[in-house]
Amino acid sequence: MSNRRTIAAGNWKMNKTASEAVEFVNALKEKVADTASEVVVGVPFVCLPGVVAAAKGSNIKVAAQNVHWEESGAFTGEVSAPMLADLGVDYVIIGHSERREYFGETNETVNKKAHAIFKHGMTPIICCGETLTQREQGVTADHVRYQIKVALLGLSAEQVKQVVIAYEPIWAIGTGKTATNEQANEVCAIIRNTIKELYGEDVSNATRIQYGGSVNAKNAAELFAMSDIDGGLVGGASLKIDDFTIIAKA
Ligand code: PEP
Repeated sequence: MSNRRTIAAGNWKMNKTASEAVEFVNALKEKVADTASEVVVGVPFVCLPGVVAAAKGSNIKVAAQNVHWEESGAFTGEVSAPMLADLGVDYVIIGHSERREYFGETNETVNKKAHAIFKHGMTPIICCGETLTQREQGVTADHVRYQIKVALLGLSAEQVKQVVIAYEPIWAIGTGKTATNEQANEVCAIIRNTIKELYGEDVSNATRIQYGGSVNAKNAAELFAMSDIDGGLVGGASLKIDDFTIIAKA
């Protein structure tokens, strides 16, 4: 048994208005008041102020779903780490496969974002994962190891202990096709081993690695019980309060 605290994080993506978000978090905080896991909601930028206020004093932490790596400047439409920190945001999800696919996120920008997030006292949730073709071609381990190595470049051992990594096979995101417990655990172990090679066992034993990809109220407990899986990054099921409550307690 590791002493890593399970972390159940919802990724709402582009769902819920600011008022719907506050209503949801007000209801969720009662339901998860006694959970041992850390509970995180990853909400759209416009929902952040209301959700941070609603979550205050509860055991719900708040995540943004993206950030720019520069502090300020001529980057129309972007939001910086000091802006998020000023709101009281705890975590920032970076490198999500949807951002890589539709918005040009790369391993290099993920790394720059990770540095900016730490500089402003927040914690990155770094997503990685292979496509179906990569899995079928047998390059999953190489691909994920490379993503992680670049994402962590230049971070200190202390920072890597705090980082949360979300292993999300792209073929399992939003498809209802969950990786088996063994498939998910195998890649999470590969990620932990990569961190061990880079930073040593002390660090790799501390870093939390989530699985994401069609996690739901039925499969969460089994997945989270695997040796190298420390919780989940949850999309669709995190929008349903009863399902997310079950996942947070898994
Ligand atoms: C995600 O968006 O990170 C995700 C894992 O989505 P879903 O749970 O819907 O597959």
